[in-house]
Amino acid sequence: MRIEKCYFCSAPVYPGHGMQFVRNDSKIFRFCRSKCHNAFKKKKNPRKVRWTKAFRKSAGKELAVDPSFEFEKRRNVPVKYDRELWQKTVDAMKKVEEIRQKRSGRFITQRLKKAKVIDKERDVKEVQRNLGLIRSPAAGLLQKQQEKMIEEIHESDEEMQIAEEI
Ligand SMILES: [Zn+2]
Repeated sequence: MRIEKCYFCSAPVYPGHGMQFVRNDSKIFRFCRSKCHNAFKKKKNPRKVRWTKAFRKSAGKELAVDPSFEFEKRRNVPVKYDRELWQKTVDAMKKVEEIRQKRSGRFITQRLKKAKVIDKERDVKEVQRNLGLIRSPAAGLLQKQQEKMIEEIHESDEEMQIAEEI
């Protein structure tokens, strides 16, 4: 069994709790409680409702990009561990827990900053990738026209010079 996330507030939905709505395109929406279900029925946007995880993430109050999310990633194929790797994982998790307790939010602002840098890089990349959509094709035309005009001026200058020499 899987512990699902509430579609609206991202709280864990344990088996036998909450309710789920299956839209006629077979997308499944799970809700932790009637509060979230009612908000969904009222077509509220979770990013605009202050008590949801989605709002907190989009408002920069919580980590949006963090390597630790790798742990709770949804995996459709179970990962098989051999004993050694399993032991290593357990050790690593213990260490992570130790470090986490030591830090306990001391570095959260730094990590938020790092996340912002990563976000920015991603945004820049996206803009660069889709630059063709932003830059109007007319801009290139104008430049070409100007170049053509300059060339024509040069040519006429040369003709004039030739005419003078003659
Ligand atoms: Zn919920």
